[in-house]
Amino acid sequence: MLILGSGPAGLSAAIYGARAGLAPIVVQGIQPGGQLTTTTDVENYPGFREVIQGPWLMEEMQAQAEHVGARMMWDTIVEVDLSQRPFRLVGDGGHVYLGDTLVIATGAQAKWLGLDSEQKLRGQGVSACATCDGFFFRGKKVAVIGGGNTAVEEALYLTNHSHDVTLIHRRDSLRAEKILQERLFKHHGIKVLWNTEVAEFVGGEGHQGLTGLELRDTRTGEVSHLDVDGGFVAIGHHPATELFQGHVELDEDHYIKVEPGTTRTSVPGVFACGDVMDKIYRQAITAAGTGCMAALDAERFLAEADFEAEAIAAE
Ligand code: FAD
Ligand code: NAP
Repeated sequence: MLILGSGPAGLSAAIYGARAGLAPIVVQGIQPGGQLTTTTDVENYPGFREVIQGPWLMEEMQAQAEHVGARMMWDTIVEVDLSQRPFRLVGDGGHVYLGDTLVIATGAQAKWLGLDSEQKLRGQGVSACATCDGFFFRGKKVAVIGGGNTAVEEALYLTNHSHDVTLIHRRDSLRAEKILQERLFKHHGIKVLWNTEVAEFVGGEGHQGLTGLELRDTRTGEVSHLDVDGGFVAIGHHPATELFQGHVELDEDHYIKVEPGTTRTSVPGVFACGDVMDKIYRQAITAAGTGCMAALDAERFLAEADFEAEAIAAE
């Protein structure tokens, strides 16, 4: 069993795969431990009453996977051949990996506006995940940047914590579904700034985090200032699927397509879990949950393949 990716999805698949006797090999990629290694406080991963640290949680998951028999490889896959089994994958140093079954858990990365001030204040008031970080802004002023489903859902979610939520969108109409738009417009705690873009994230002096946003009117160029403590960038994600283009079926947003209720992809024996196939929930716990599903689906696939091979041999 080959697993690509060492975030919560890949490592959960590894734990279940190892305990099912599938001798999993995890190719970790350039971000061992995945996205959670880029954050500090995690308060919503079940099982810990105290706040835990993202990098620590991922070290524990890796240690648990190794403890039950998974092997970790420090490599990044650059080439795949899924046309026949065993599947053949090539690492960037030329190492070849063969797998009777493959679990893709390569995750997704948030898109950012690309401002230096955004980079500087990430984790200090600037975030790309309201579900993850909204709780840290209880009673404070927050803004969400974007006009799609994610931005509108994040703005609505943030009203659980803040009575002062501003949605900032670069055009004069939203891309989000109508039903979400209706909920947004009806909500008294949310105001919308149309035709507006963020020119700079302001703050970071001394021990201060984000203190405000420098805004620019996209029609007139006029600059204004908005005081906020939290800025949530919600302009989309890039699933890490370039490698699989033309090999497994992707949806219109380039996420790996799976059969509903399973982790089965368009290629028998190849399974996908975590953020690489999930554009809605994008949480560590959902990634871990689908990682477990992928290992169970892979185990069943191999058991059926063995059964068929034995039946053919017996004929
Ligand atoms: P990822 O964690 O993205 O892992 C992907 C893995 O794939 C990485 O190991 C990478 O190296 C590997 N990879 C990619 N390409 C290749 C390749 N070609 N070859 C080999 N390996 C490859 N969620 C929560 O539940 N609670 C939180 O508090 C929380 N906070 C967050 C804070 C931040 C700053 C961010 C960015 C995210 C946060 N999340 C949080 C979301 C959570 O981190 C993700 O939902 C989760 O990590 C997704 O897990 P995953 O295993 O699918 O993918
Ligand atoms: P999206 O639909 O691509 O929307 C991105 C938004 O960000 C757009 O409004 C876009 O503006 C704006 N944007 C992009 N780049 C920008 C930039 N550089 N500066 C300022 N604004 C920028 O992304 P998404 O909302 O993350 O959704 C992705 C997919 O997941 C969609 O298919 C969506 O339907 C789906 N999704 C579904 C659910 C759900 O069903 N509940 C929840 C979340 C996401 P423009 O409009 O001007 O292009």
